[in-house]
Amino acid sequence: MSTLRGTAVSPGIAVGRALVVERDAVPVFRLNLAPEKIPAEIGRLEAALEVSREQLRAIKERLSREVGAPHAYIFDAHLLMLDDPLLRARAVEIVQQQLVNAEWALRTVSEELHGLFDEFSDEYLRERSSDLDDVIGRVQLNLRGAPGAPSLERLPGPFVLVASDLSPSEAAELDWDRVLAVATDMGSSTYHTAIIARSLRIPAVVGLKDATRQTPAGSLVVVDGTRGEVVVEPSASILDGFRRDQETYRREDERLCSTRELPSRTQDGVDVRLVANVEFPEEAATAQLYGAEGIGLFRSEYLLGRDPRWPSEDQQLDVYRRLIEQMHPHAVTVRTWDVGREALGTVGPSGPNPAMGERALRLLRRSPDPFRVQLRALLRAGEHGPIRIMFPFVAGVGDLRLALSLLDEAREELRRENVAFREDVPVGVNLEVPSAAVVVDLLVTEVDFFSVGTNDLIQYLLAVDRTDPRVSALYEPLHPAVLRTLARIAAVAREHDRPLSLCGEMAGQPVEAVLLVGLGYRELSMAPSAIPRVKAAVRAVREDEARRLAERCLSLGTREETVRFVREELPEAAGPAGPVQ
Ligand code: PEP
Ligand code: MG
Repeated sequence: MSTLRGTAVSPGIAVGRALVVERDAVPVFRLNLAPEKIPAEIGRLEAALEVSREQLRAIKERLSREVGAPHAYIFDAHLLMLDDPLLRARAVEIVQQQLVNAEWALRTVSEELHGLFDEFSDEYLRERSSDLDDVIGRVQLNLRGAPGAPSLERLPGPFVLVASDLSPSEAAELDWDRVLAVATDMGSSTYHTAIIARSLRIPAVVGLKDATRQTPAGSLVVVDGTRGEVVVEPSASILDGFRRDQETYRREDERLCSTRELPSRTQDGVDVRLVANVEFPEEAATAQLYGAEGIGLFRSEYLLGRDPRWPSEDQQLDVYRRLIEQMHPHAVTVRTWDVGREALGTVGPSGPNPAMGERALRLLRRSPDPFRVQLRALLRAGEHGPIRIMFPFVAGVGDLRLALSLLDEAREELRRENVAFREDVPVGVNLEVPSAAVVVDLLVTEVDFFSVGTNDLIQYLLAVDRTDPRVSALYEPLHPAVLRTLARIAAVAREHDRPLSLCGEMAGQPVEAVLLVGLGYRELSMAPSAIPRVKAAVRAVREDEARRLAERCLSLGTREETVRFVREELPEAAGPAGPVQ
């Protein structure tokens, strides 16, 4: 038995067999196979090798024809590698001896051969290891393309997913119905996989560093997403303990859901609207289950998955309309595409740091069409009920005006085409770039509402990469710089009478939520499952008390002082472990 510790990001407990996914160019599964499945698996491997050989031959012939034989020699080398016993026979041997799938056998072979290449003293030969990657990568792709191949979209059974890392698009496409729990080496609480797991109420622990190395494929694993623990091959008594905790958690969850009808109101009568962040339209039902009074953030880019085509205007209209109908009479806030350059299919690399690169509205100058189509669908959806449009990653007035002018164009087009739409769909900014927070007084006159995206705002304000577990401890929502920025935004919004929401993960933490109420926030948007606990915290305090606490926190110098103070003042909301951050 071994116990791994990471960051608890989605509460609950799950027990199941591990499916281990390693990150190569494509995710590679490690599956344990029953002995009777081995001949078929070897057949699959042989077939993929055969297809690869045919492809390499065809490439070589074409090159010889088109640019001359000398340039095609490299593919002779590739063909030789493909048939080398160290690759081919060894991969078959690994499948037979270790009873694993072909993909995993190839990965192991690749590691072994890289070890050999590294020992060459000749630099030219050492550099041939990239050819090896090319050849093995080709076979992996052919395995993947074959019918029946396991993939993230089609998991071979219900599993605890143990992965090194999952990109947002992989997380979007994952076969979540068959995921019992998630454990990843990378990530922090604002990691997108964590956000989705929370929304779907699937226990998750991230930032485990080496869970993929420590978890044998097919081993029995317990994921405790409340405590941030993963136990591999638990003893019978430990497993019993987890089963009991699982039952307690389930009952507690049921009790919390029963607060759905209670108002989210402080002791002294101040209403705080609790709304939901969702990634998939299907989550609207979960949002209602937990008593959400609307959707404060629909991350629309999840409609894209890994499909390179953009959803059409009508397809989008259908999704937005369903969301509106489901949440009736509450409002739905849709954030426009928060995507990087690669999603637009623009030629060229996505840049050294995509999080700070050409993304979201920054792509509007180069490729306005996907944005125009989305805005048209949103304006048309306005006919069916309350919807709000929110622009992400606005850095200042210039970005905002560009987006607003495209919105004007979309309105003009619809008018010309005589298509029904709502003229006055409220338009707001997702305040998440520090520069926008600094010029919030300039932005405020041009928008109908703000929603603060603290996930990004904090990472850029504090210069802490939110996906990097090595620095995630430095990611501090209660840092005085964060609280002061949030206080200023609230003051400007109040002065101009603009609705203000906060949709970063901190809104879903009871202690942070109380402080946000104290800073003047009257709408908090969070993962649906976080709503009951935040509601309990809101109902337990007086607003004037929350204000006093928040004011005091603004003048505390360090996170430690703030945490100590808050823990003393709000022991109930903090829970036994204290505030999360
Ligand atoms: C944020 O940045 O706080 C936010 C809500 O958006 P995302 O987590 O999708 O970047
Ligand atoms: Mg963001």
